[in-house]
Amino acid sequence: MRYTDSMERSAEHLRAALAQMTRQRSALHPTSYAIWYEYVSGRNPDLRHAMNQMLADGATLDEAQTWSLYTTHVGEWDSPGAKRISDGFQRVLNGIAASAAHAGDHTARFGNELSELSLKLESDAAPAETVREILSGVRELSGVMSSLQHKLDASRNEIAELRREVELARNEALVDALTGLANRRAFDQELAQAIQSGESLQAPCLMLGDIDFFKRLNDSYGHAFGDQVLRGVAQTMKGIAAAPALAARVGGEEFAVLLPGSTLQQAQALAEQMRQSIAAGRIRRGTSTQDDERVTLSFGVTQLAVGESANEFFERADRALYASKRSGRNCVTVLAARAAA
Ligand code: GH3
Ligand code: MG
Ligand code: MG
Repeated sequence: MRYTDSMERSAEHLRAALAQMTRQRSALHPTSYAIWYEYVSGRNPDLRHAMNQMLADGATLDEAQTWSLYTTHVGEWDSPGAKRISDGFQRVLNGIAASAAHAGDHTARFGNELSELSLKLESDAAPAETVREILSGVRELSGVMSSLQHKLDASRNEIAELRREVELARNEALVDALTGLANRRAFDQELAQAIQSGESLQAPCLMLGDIDFFKRLNDSYGHAFGDQVLRGVAQTMKGIAAAPALAARVGGEEFAVLLPGSTLQQAQALAEQMRQSIAAGRIRRGTSTQDDERVTLSFGVTQLAVGESANEFFERADRALYASKRSGRNCVTVLAARAAA
């Protein structure tokens, strides 16, 4: 869903991120890479803002700041996949350091030998032997250098592989495990981006939908059936909200659809289409059609007003949603920005 950069752009971000990482006090690990990748790519405005504040007046990030930025603005770093990436990243960096140290030792040793040999050359009666010694030293050094080159190439490939794994883990951190929709974190990031770019383009619309009497369904038929309902509703939403719309599960039984390029009328029509489509469907509970359950949602729709924050925007959509609940559920309420002011 995210990280759709081309290879060239990713490589650019990678270079810029590594350059920044090496200037910090924190160690080089996937967590610092993740925040710096997000920072240089400019895709995470909240993170960028927080980092700019911490980096003001030439300050650098320490270990604690790096981890706190990661957990607040990027994702939880506790999955087995993340552990694997972290270990792999460390292994690559250690490998590079060891190879470079090895090559460095050789160069230093050869440098010393060369000085001794040049003294010998000046005085030696049989310089042919000395020249052979020099040649053999040069061959040995070139062997060490070419092995370093191979190790660096292998490390570069391994880093590219790790970067792909970081992206995968990062995407997992943005997906709701139950429904496969974007989760609240992903939604908040998209919302922040839509608000940033909404000033020059069409103001985005937001639709919130909440399942009606969901607690009753859970209480009557069990949590597993409730989960099945959530997956069914998510499926319908995903089918209707085509890109660039982003459908997300933002709470237990609450869904949001961000519509970057829609007018308020279009957003309303889409909410109405979702409402009808879900209300017309049935969710299979047992083996016979008699056991099929009807599920409905209430919706609130609004459009971003000039200069307002994500919170104000979201709260107005929420007020519209609760107006739908109050007026009997299974309906759509539209709240225009000025009407709610
Ligand atoms: P209303 O029409 O006013 O929205 O009533 P409601 O019952 O849908 O709302 P309420 O907020 O009272 O209950 C929401 C329920 O959603 C309570 C909670 O147990 C359930 N829920 C939250 N997350 C999950 C989940 O992941 N799976 C299941 N099965 N239930 C969940
Ligand atoms: Mg509900
Ligand atoms: Mg609710």
